[in-house]
Amino acid sequence: LRDEVDRMERLSLVGQMAASITHEIRNPMAVIRGFVQLLQERSPQSQHEYYRIIMEELDRTNQIINDFLSLAQNRELKMEFASLNASIQDIVPLLLADANLRGQSLKVNLCPELPGMMLNDREMKQMLLNLARNGMEAMGEKGVLSISTTYTEQEVSIHIRDEGVGIPQEKMKHLFEPFFTTKTRGTGLGLPLCLSIVERHRGKIEVQSAEGQGTVFIVTFNILEPDFEHNTA
Ligand code: ADP
Ligand code: MG
Repeated sequence: LRDEVDRMERLSLVGQMAASITHEIRNPMAVIRGFVQLLQERSPQSQHEYYRIIMEELDRTNQIINDFLSLAQNRELKMEFASLNASIQDIVPLLLADANLRGQSLKVNLCPELPGMMLNDREMKQMLLNLARNGMEAMGEKGVLSISTTYTEQEVSIHIRDEGVGIPQEKMKHLFEPFFTTKTRGTGLGLPLCLSIVERHRGKIEVQSAEGQGTVFIVTFNILEPDFEHNTA
């Protein structure tokens, strides 16, 4: 029964999102159409800039579709018993490259005795990348992004901390809504995707933020979850 309810909820969520995605894709499409029209009319000098805008808007449309598809996908998750540390370590080179480009730095502090858990490595990486990128995007040059893991008897947690602009209190409740973004080039699908990944792993995600000081996202998974033992079989 619970599975059935989950399934229905997801289906109606997908329906609602199909409506919003249509809306979201129309925006960049309208911009592209406008600039293609200008290309036809204007001097060759301004064309360079128009091509750039058109490419950017096409990329953005593509990003919206990709993020939306990962969110709507409802495949059976292949879970394996593994350490979160391994998923993090795999994406560190990628994050280092990102941080370097921005003149920021990355601090990674993984608890060596972190217990394993049932997880889908691909999804974990997708979640970590989204949270880490948000952190970097919230910071200027010299900002430090810190990623760490900890555990208790029942839980493993990952902290993703930035020294960025922080999140105003009134925005907090909208963070996980599809298409909520404060960025001109944002899709607003990163956090909803993270939330759905965390939920599929029966975890929880918390946010603490201080304006002008920074933000920390804490993702916690129960490692004594009895369902997980069934999955191993
Ligand atoms: P996007 O990154 O495309 O805007 P997300 O769903 O990833 O979409 O994030 C939604 C919004 O939440 C962001 O636009 C930003 O306003 C806010 N946000 C998320 N993470 C952070 C962070 N680490 N620091 C400050 N604001 C954040
Ligand atoms: Mg994002």
